[in-house]
Amino acid sequence: MLEIGALRYQFPGADPEIMQFDLSVAAGEVLSLIGPSGSGKSTLLNLIAGFLKPDSGHIHVDGEAIEHLPIAQRPVTIVFQQHNLFPHLDLYTNVALGVDPSLKLSTEQDQLIEDALESLALSGLEKRKPGELSGGQRQRIALARVLVRERKVLLLDEAFAALGPAQREELIVLVKALVERKKMAALLVSHQPRDALIASDRTAFVQNGRIIALQPTRQLLEETDLVEVRSYLGSL
Ligand code: ADP
Ligand code: MG
Repeated sequence: MLEIGALRYQFPGADPEIMQFDLSVAAGEVLSLIGPSGSGKSTLLNLIAGFLKPDSGHIHVDGEAIEHLPIAQRPVTIVFQQHNLFPHLDLYTNVALGVDPSLKLSTEQDQLIEDALESLALSGLEKRKPGELSGGQRQRIALARVLVRERKVLLLDEAFAALGPAQREELIVLVKALVERKKMAALLVSHQPRDALIASDRTAFVQNGRIIALQPTRQLLEETDLVEVRSYLGSL
């Protein structure tokens, strides 16, 4: 459903080595991306989201090219570690902004938000400000926004890195269910091999701006002979 082909990018004036990505993610799949810091994982996500413009190559969603679309028109939601919540606005308004920045919501849209909050166990907290919520609750607001935006592609860039293992697992399980139910295609970047095991049947390993391995997660993490992967995992 998400198809990336010969997608090339080079930061202006930076690294001599050009990045190039080829990848496809099926509807309902959470594909994990692992690899050393600076290998290009965020760059790939930012190319898909539209924060960076590729030098060449294509990004297709359900067969439609999106690489020339402006950020707001792409069928993509990206979630970062640093949640982008407005501290002075309550939880409800923060989620509603994901539906319509002018906040002129129809009854259906209002119901969509209530349903999203309920399915993420946030009902009753609508009037709270982000500062009055736990870190796990704040990342669940980010997921509520994902739900109400109804975009086909979900990108998670170390989104849960600040949370402890139990909360991370809870949110990853939620994401997996969400992606399966909504038939989205998701990419999950995490430095925790356990996150990939929970989230993904398949995991890609990124090094020097390329995907150098894409395998069943357990095989990649536990049985690989690739020196690069074993050195990253510390299992050499
Ligand atoms: P990762 O997310 O895997 O840690 P990034 O995609 O952030 O890696 O970075 C990939 C490479 O691109 C690194 O070598 C990094 O130094 C370089 N890079 C990232 N952002 C910029 C930038 N704004 N300008 C120049 N080089 C950058
Ligand atoms: Mg990164």
